[in-house]
Order: sequence, then C-alpha cells, then structure tokens
Amino acid sequence: MRAYPAAAGKPSKIGIMGGTFDPIHFGHLLAAEESRSALGLDEVIFIPSGDPAHKRGRKIASPEDRYVMTLLTTLTNPKFTPSRIEIDRKAPSHTVDTLREMRRSYAPGAVVFYFITGLDAVLGITSWKEYESLPGLCSIVAVSRPGYAAQSLEFLPRQMREAIIPLEIPLLSISSTEIRERIKENRSIKYLLPEPVEQYIYKNGLYRKEPEV
Ligand code: NAP
Repeated sequence: MRAYPAAAGKPSKIGIMGGTFDPIHFGHLLAAEESRSALGLDEVIFIPSGDPAHKRGRKIASPEDRYVMTLLTTLTNPKFTPSRIEIDRKAPSHTVDTLREMRRSYAPGAVVFYFITGLDAVLGITSWKEYESLPGLCSIVAVSRPGYAAQSLEFLPRQMREAIIPLEIPLLSISSTEIRERIKENRSIKYLLPEPVEQYIYKNGLYRKEPEV
C-alpha cells in the first residue's frame, strides 16, 4: 500500500492516464501535465491498456512494447509513473476493474482518482463495462484539442456528465495514428515523441509497412 501523507486531512489527488499508447507521444505528455497543473494532481500514473477488448481485430503493438515506450517517456518526470496493472492482468482491460484494483492499494479515503483520457474515448463511455459505476470511483478528465471540448456530452446520463471534466489542450494535434502512418510511409517522426521512444520504435521495427506477398 502506498503511504501518502494526508496533508491537513485531505486525500491525495491521483491522475490515472489511460490509453492504448500505440505509441505514446508528446500530446499525451502535454495532456498529463496540463491535467496535473489544472487540477492540482499530486501524481499521474500512466496505464497502457493490456488487452483492449474494444480493439480486437486491429493490429496493435504488443503490451510489453507499449509499456516500455511508456516507461521511457515518463522517466524524467518525478510526478509521472508508469503502471503494469493492465499489462499484468490476464484478462481484457476494463477501466472499472483497474480503478477498483487501484483503490484497493491505497488506505481508505487516502486518495481521489482522476481518470484522464481522450474526449473521443469518453464519447463512447456508455459501451464500457459497468460504466454507471465509474462516477463513484473517479472524476473523468476528457482531454481534447481546442474547440472540441464543449461538444455533445448532452446525450450522456446526468450522473456521468457531472463526473466529466472537459479539458482543452493547446497544441494537442499529435496523434498515435498519424505517427504510425508516418512510419509506414518512411516519413520523419522526430519531435512528435521523445527520442528514446523513436529509437525504440526503429530498433524493434514497430509499425513498419508489412512486406507485400
Ligand atoms: P482510443 O480510441 O485509442 O483514443 C480515442 C482518442 O483519444 C484518440 O484521439 C486518442 O489519441 C486519444 N487518447 C487516448 N488516450 C488518451 C490520453 N490518455 N490522453 C490524451 N489523448 C488520449 O482510446 P483508447 O486508448 O482505446 O482508450 C482510452 C482509455 O479508455 C483507455 O484507458 C481504455 O482502457 C479506456 N477504455 C475502457 C473501456 C472499457 O472499460 N470497456 C473501453 C474503451 C476504452 P491517440 O491515438 O493519439 O492516443
């Protein structure tokens, strides 16, 4: 169990940065840092999805590769920590299971959680396992590019809407899809992600175009 000093009886505020991170990039780092400073978070834990059930049939880099890239990315910020919680779970990754497991590793009342992810992912939240339980476990920080944050949360149940904190991230224009496409087309990915991650991708031949047979 982590021992967080309960400053003046207040629980610590922990950001949980959830994503496939295929690959992780500077947009994710910026989103985590903006969330940390806007919400006064004590720490941000990066959790790459282990087995994202909603991405079956899509080719994604292995959980270990995505974890190592997350580790390399978070190395230099003492407030950012990578977690293997979903990588090590031998079951499909569901946010509700992760939050319940995380909660068990802290003393009761010692922490409050802020689950941080992309607005696009949050828009599909009603298809997530036991989504109605999420507001009781965390606030949900939906990060987006400027101009998108106010969009269409109206269709969500009121309790869910009230748990969501929209956060526009200036300069959040990098996307994992764009990086994968660039690699396939032999275009540069320099300055889109940390250099050690770029080197890791090339060294391990990730995201290359499949040779035609
Ligand atoms: P996604 O469909 O890959 O991403 C949707 C959009 O959000 C993309 O534009 C993506 O940009 C962006 N994004 C994703 N994670 C982000 C982050 N942490 N910070 C900033 N932007 C982010 O979504 P996903 O990665 O699969 O899912 C996001 C999270 O929701 C994961 O933790 C996942 O486990 C959870 N989720 C849970 C369930 C469930 O419990 N059943 C179902 C779906 C998703 P990039 O492509 O550049 O990352």
